[in-house]
Amino acid sequence: MSVNGQTALAILAAFGVIGLLALMGAYLVIGMAWDQSPLRANTARSDGRPTGWTLVGRALALRCPRCGIGTIFDSRFRMRTHCRQCGVVFWKSEGEWLGPAVIDYSVATASGLVTWAALVLAGFSPIAQFICASSAALIMAAALSRWSRSFWTLLLYISGDLTQTHDLAKNESAE
Ligand SMILES: [Zn+2]
Repeated sequence: MSVNGQTALAILAAFGVIGLLALMGAYLVIGMAWDQSPLRANTARSDGRPTGWTLVGRALALRCPRCGIGTIFDSRFRMRTHCRQCGVVFWKSEGEWLGPAVIDYSVATASGLVTWAALVLAGFSPIAQFICASSAALIMAAALSRWSRSFWTLLLYISGDLTQTHDLAKNESAE
């Protein structure tokens, strides 16, 4: 086996492990935040409150974590500042884009390297390896960017950070 082939195998194995760890990490982070969340006390008592799975479902559907009805995005890439249904402000500070950006960047790097490694093992030409690996990185990052922001908003919500609400009556006519 060539040196490239061995490198490719090593990268695939490494990302297999990293991918598993990342999934476990995400599960633990969300689980722990949910465990300590101020919302949880309410959940145990009344049936109308969202469960952990409902919240994950809302994040997957790109909906407001608080009410589950309002959407987070108003177009393909533009995020709303607040929920039009319940008025909660999604990101209080401008710096919140950093969390999702780190997720996007990691996803792009991982997809690029994994694609490259798979093509090396399958014996594709260097040009094909380059083109496919870079497109895989771009496509994956673009495809997942809405969900990274959605899950980030969910994380902010369950850690009790979505406290501001927008005055819906005041702005509805302007929009
Ligand atoms: Zn809402």
